[in-house]
Amino acid sequence: MSLKKDGIMIILSSPSGAGKTTLTNLLSRKFRFHISVSHTTRKPRPKEIHSKHYFFVKKKEFNRLILNNKFLEYAKVFNNFYGTSKDYVFKMLKNGKDVLFDIDWQGTKKIKNKKLKFKILTIFVLPPSRDVLFKRLSNRDMRDKLIAEERMKQFNKDILHWKNYNYVVINDKLDRCIQEIKKIIFFKKKSKKYLQDKKKIRKHVKHLLS
Ligand code: ADP
Ligand code: 5GP
Repeated sequence: MSLKKDGIMIILSSPSGAGKTTLTNLLSRKFRFHISVSHTTRKPRPKEIHSKHYFFVKKKEFNRLILNNKFLEYAKVFNNFYGTSKDYVFKMLKNGKDVLFDIDWQGTKKIKNKKLKFKILTIFVLPPSRDVLFKRLSNRDMRDKLIAEERMKQFNKDILHWKNYNYVVINDKLDRCIQEIKKIIFFKKKSKKYLQDKKKIRKHVKHLLS
């Protein structure tokens, strides 16, 4: 019997463009967390690398993976499919490695409902303002301004899911935000509660929706 402690599942979700992918990559680089690389039917963005950012697959292959029960969860987001690979994630967690997930609220809900034996920490990332969010989306999706506009339209709905997460962080400055997430993870690993000002968060959400 192994005495090794299981790793924890650290889930980051946010409205598109708030910065969860950037944060996930920085956290993994700085603190050696393992990233769950999802499969997607979406086309790669410039600079995205197959097997590093996503496993980019055709719809037919994605369906085959569903049929073979390869996904811990999968969901349709912005007209594309995204899925979390079961084997890799379980292998890492059982080996005591903490795993970072950059997935949406649907995937988070599905994973929580599975009542797995692993500890789960859920963090919702918010942008500092709508203007900043639009600029980030426009810079990222330069090839197609319509994508940024479509994702802004979805923002008001996506943001409402913040309440179902353990913690909420505002991604204003990357360094500050990374330090806060690191602290939250540290507290979780010690089974302690990290205190957050819920009133301040509610006020910020209200401001983002106005
Ligand atoms: P998401 O994964 O939530 O959709 P990304 O991580 O792709 O968002 O970030 C969207 C864009 O915003 C990217 O171009 C990224 O470089 C930029 N970005 C993310 N966080 C910050 C930040 N704190 N300050 C400035 N730019 C940021
Ligand atoms: P993007 O196309 O911007 O990379 O991602 C779009 C959305 O899909 C983001 O909210 C991202 O977190 C989510 N996503 C990425 N991978 C997965 C996954 O495996 N499962 C689920 N449910 N959502 C995912």
